[in-house]
Amino acid sequence: MKISEKQLEEVNDRIRALVAADSFYGKKLEAAGITEVHSAEEFEALPFSEKKDLRDAYPLGLMTAPEKDIVRIHSSSGTTGLPVIIPYTAKDVDDWAIQFKRCYEMAGVTKFDRVQITPGYGLWTAGIGFQNGAEKLGAMVIPMGPGNTEKQIQMMVDMKSTVLCSTSSYALLLAEEIEKRGIRDKIHLKTGVIGSERWSEAMRRSIREKLGIELYDIYGLTEAYGPGIGISCKYECGMHYWDDYVYIEIIDPHTLKTVPDGVEGEIVITTLVKEGAPLIRYRTHDISRILPGDCECGSKFPRLDTIKGRTDDMVKIKGVNVFPSQIEEILASIPEASSEYQIRISHLDGKDTMRLYVETTGHTDFAELAKKVARKVKSKIGFTPLVKVVEVGLLPRSEKKTKRVYDERYDTK
Ligand code: ZN
Repeated sequence: MKISEKQLEEVNDRIRALVAADSFYGKKLEAAGITEVHSAEEFEALPFSEKKDLRDAYPLGLMTAPEKDIVRIHSSSGTTGLPVIIPYTAKDVDDWAIQFKRCYEMAGVTKFDRVQITPGYGLWTAGIGFQNGAEKLGAMVIPMGPGNTEKQIQMMVDMKSTVLCSTSSYALLLAEEIEKRGIRDKIHLKTGVIGSERWSEAMRRSIREKLGIELYDIYGLTEAYGPGIGISCKYECGMHYWDDYVYIEIIDPHTLKTVPDGVEGEIVITTLVKEGAPLIRYRTHDISRILPGDCECGSKFPRLDTIKGRTDDMVKIKGVNVFPSQIEEILASIPEASSEYQIRISHLDGKDTMRLYVETTGHTDFAELAKKVARKVKSKIGFTPLVKVVEVGLLPRSEKKTKRVYDERYDTK
C-alpha cells in the first residue's frame, strides 16, 4: 500500500516537529539532510528507527511536543537495561482512545456491554488503553488488572461481564478454570478481545469452545500508542489497522527494501499525527504481510495478516529457520495434543538438539503421540526433534506472555 499524498503531508509535518524539537530523530534527519519527502520513493529512503534508538533517548529524549503539553508517559517492557519512555500529549491520549473505540466497535461491542479488563495497569500501555477505549465507547468498565483468578471469576459472574480483555494465555487459564468449576452457565461473556501475544489456532479453538465466545485479535505496541491500532473483524482474515493514524509498510528484513502487498516481511510503522513522540519508519520486528484486496466485512481499512512471529524469536537449528508458530500449526492439526508447548534447544555432543514438550488432552498413548509429533515436525520443518509428552496442565501458563522457547545453546554453565 503506497503512501498517499495526505499521509506524506502528515509525515512532513511530523518531520518538521521532530527537527524543531531537536529530538534524537530530528538530529538523525538533519544529519541526513532531510527536511521533506515528496514521493513514496523519498519516503522509503528515510532512515529507519529501532528500539535501540528509542532506548538511547532515555529518559525523555523522544519528547517532541513542549513539556507543558505532555500529560502522561508510558514505558515499554524492556527485557534488559533501560526501558523506552514514550511521552503522550492530551491529543495522543484521545487519539489512542478513538482508535481503541473503533476496535471495540469492530468486535461488535456497544455501550450496553460490561468490559472486564485483565491486562496490567501502570507504566505499560495495556490496561489503561483497554479502559480508555471502552469508556470512549460508553461501555461499563470492570478494571480488574492482572491476577487473582478467584476474584476475576467472582466479578465475572456477579457483574455479568460480557467482554473479556486479556492475553491469550490468561484467557485460556480462565477458560480452563471455569470449565473445571463447572460454572460455564453462570458466565455471560460473549466476546473476547485478545492482545499482546501471538496465539495458535488450537489455543483460539480451545478458548472459544470452553467459553462459547467470539474472539478478536488486537494489535499494537507501546511505541505507537499501545494496543488498539488494529483488530481482526468477524471474518477472521487478518487485522484491520487505522491508516489515518499509522502508516504501515512491510520490509524485507535482510535487504531492508519495502516489499509489495501480499509479501511477508517485517512490519515498519510511521505514526502520522502523534505529537508526544512521533515514530518514523520504526522497525517492530513483527513478521506479517499486508493482505491485498477488500475484506468481506466491507471495512475500507487495510489489513495486516496475523502476526507470524518476531524476527528475533525465529530460531535457527541445523541450518533451518524455525518459528514457534510452525510448531503451533502442527499441534493444532493433532487433536490429542493441547495448544501448549515448550521448545528447548541445546548443543550436545557437537550438535544442536531440539526438545519439544507437548501436552496430551486425554487418554492417549504418550509414546505414540510423541512419535506422531516428531514425524510431523520432520515432514513440515525438516528435522526430527526429541518429543516429550506430558499430561495436560503441566506446562506453565502465565498471566502475561508465556515463554515457550528456551535456547540453551549459549549458556556456559
Ligand atoms: Zn474485515
